[in-house]
This record gives sequence, structure tokens and C-alpha cells, in this order.
Amino acid sequence: MLRFEADKVVTEGGEFAADLILFMPGLTGPAWLEHSALPRSPGGMVAADAQCRVAGFERVYVVGDSGSFPGPDWMPKQAHMADLQAEAAAHNLLAELAGGRGERGFKVELVCIIDAIDQGTLVYRTEQQQIVLPPNRLMHWAKRSFERRYLRHYQ
Ligand SMILES: Cc1cc2nc3c(=O)[nH]c(=O)nc-3n(C[C@H](O)[C@H](O)[C@H](O)COP(=O)(O)OP(=O)(O)OC[C@H]3O[C@@H](n4cnc5c(N)ncnc54)[C@H](O)[C@@H]3O)c2cc1C
Repeated sequence: MLRFEADKVVTEGGEFAADLILFMPGLTGPAWLEHSALPRSPGGMVAADAQCRVAGFERVYVVGDSGSFPGPDWMPKQAHMADLQAEAAAHNLLAELAGGRGERGFKVELVCIIDAIDQGTLVYRTEQQQIVLPPNRLMHWAKRSFERRYLRHYQ
């Protein structure tokens, strides 16, 4: 993409007309990372291995949106992924503190209900399968109920 004009989007490959332009910039890591010694991925996130360990640092782990992990290029930045990574990182850190070496990895799984208040769309993807269910009301209520169940652990 090169630029926006009032009524069009100009890209390296040509341009197209637009009545309304809604732009979502790509994600980058936190600004303070640049001034730290932590290793960064090309996208500006904290580079980690498949066990969430930060290379070159003892007992330092990263999970969630700030991390960059080996895996498929569709690996989502999702709260669900952050949860799975946090479980692996906590397990591995405890193993290290006990004098061992934790080798737990995390499953790469995109699971999301895109909620439009009156209906929801389920999107599910793993390395083996990919499912998108058409929008329906049941999925809206499923997301509401998941939210209540999830928050109960922390309340
Ligand atoms: C609109 C929207 C909808 C989404 N919907 C879903 C969904 O349906 N399902 C799903 O699984 N995921 C969803 N996500 C993604 C999900 O929110 C993130 O993947 C998840 O929150 C990442 O968790 P995290 O702990 O890595 O980071 P965050 O939740 O961003 O937590 C980072 C925390 O660090 C704090 N912080 C930042 N800098 C500093 C600093 N210098 N010092 C101290 N604290 C600092 C921030 O304030 C923040 O509280 C959604 C995201 C957005 C934006």
C-alpha cells in the first residue's frame, strides 16, 4: 500500500476507488523493547522458542501478544493463545526453578466467536482442520456464557 486519497487507495500494484476507507495498521511490539536487550523478531515482538523461553536470558519467558513464537504464519494473537502459552511458560519456569528443564510447548489453535450482539460466527483452526460456522444466534449466547464461566475463575 502506498497512500490513501479522498476517494481511492493507491497500492504498488495499482489503485482502486473507495467510498469509505477503514484502515487497521499492523501490530508491532511495545516501544520500550527497542531500548532493552531482549531479542526481537522482525515484527518487533519478543522472540521466543516453542517453550516460550526468551533466547539468551535465564528463566525469562514471554507469553501473549508481545511474543513471537515458531509456528504457522496464521498463529493468532488471541487471549486463548496467551492462556495456552501461559500454562506452558508457568510449567517450564517451575521446572527450571526446581533444577530441571521444562519442555512443555503449547497447542496452536485459533478459536473465536465473532459476536455481533444478535448473532455470532464461530471460527476454528488448528494445523489439522479449519471450520467457519455461518452466523447464528446460538453462538452469541455461547460467547456470553463462555465469558461468564471464564471470568468466574478470576472473580
Ligand atoms: C477488539 C478486540 C477483540 C478481541 N477479541 C478476542 C476474542 O474474542 N477472543 C480472544 O481470544 N482474543 C481476543 N482479542 C485478543 C486478546 O485481547 C489479546 O490477544 C490478549 O488480550 C493478549 O493478552 P496479553 O496478556 O498478551 O496482552 P494484554 O491483554 O494487552 O495485556 C498487556 C497488559 O500490559 C499492560 N502494559 C503495557 N505496557 C506496560 C508497561 N510498560 N508497564 C506496565 N504494564 C504495561 C497493558 O496495559 C495491559 O494491561 C481481542 C482483541 C481486541 C483488540
